[in-house]
Amino acid sequence: ISIQQLTKIYRTEEVETTALQGVSFSVAPGEFVSIMGPSGCGKSTLLNVLGLLDQPEEGSYVFNGTELLGLGERERSRFRKHNIGFVFQSFNLIDELTVYENVELPLIYAGVAAPERKTRVAAMLQRMNLSHRSGHFPQQLSGGQQQRVAVGRALINRPNLILADEPTGNLDSSNGNEVMDILCELNEGGTTIVMVTHSSHDASFSKRIVYMKDGQIVTEKLS
Ligand code: ADP
Ligand code: ADP
Repeated sequence: ISIQQLTKIYRTEEVETTALQGVSFSVAPGEFVSIMGPSGCGKSTLLNVLGLLDQPEEGSYVFNGTELLGLGERERSRFRKHNIGFVFQSFNLIDELTVYENVELPLIYAGVAAPERKTRVAAMLQRMNLSHRSGHFPQQLSGGQQQRVAVGRALINRPNLILADEPTGNLDSSNGNEVMDILCELNEGGTTIVMVTHSSHDASFSKRIVYMKDGQIVTEKLS
């Protein structure tokens, strides 16, 4: 990932907020980077731009040699499906679907045939230590289990990049550590991870910490 001079401005009737102000940075394949900084400094906006959920006014975003800014909605959506897994603080699971169905959903969207879906979902549930919960609904699970379902869903399409926004924000420390262990394991397997976090403990699992303030990157630290 190479981003250059990203600027993102949110305009409402009364106010104009510059959420990103000339942000530049790179992420090498296989890196695990944390983004930290005070509330409102632009961390989520940056993550949303990396995930093509949000479009900046200016700048460049090159992913595996391809410029992504300026793609149309169809291509953006295709890029997300094939390359990116999202993990959110609030899990964003579908309460009406079982654990199995939540993890299966991205495969259905991607057009994967039923027999292969079955094999891949079963393997993923096993990997997330959730096989015994396959038929349960999200509300029947602990927070840590729900986040493991969300991680399984994020991974099922084998993305190159995981974008995690406060993945342990709603978890107690034991469930939080469980989720961090999974992220570390993934990273050791070669998946690139960019994670926004308020927790120095969580950031200490990553190898590099980028600090933001007022829409800019102010400093970096290798851990
Ligand atoms: P962080 O994740 O670091 O807390 P955000 O990226 O969420 O920061 O927000 C950066 C700034 O942009 C904040 O001032 C926030 O109020 C503003 N902002 C974020 N999203 C929107 C939006 N959809 N509309 C207007 N302003 C927004
Ligand atoms: P399509 O419109 O072709 O179904 P989407 O743009 O809705 O594709 O989504 C593609 C992928 O990007 C989804 O699998 C989803 O994980 C992710 N995604 C897109 N938008 C969001 C969002 N607002 N919140 C969470 N994930 C999203």
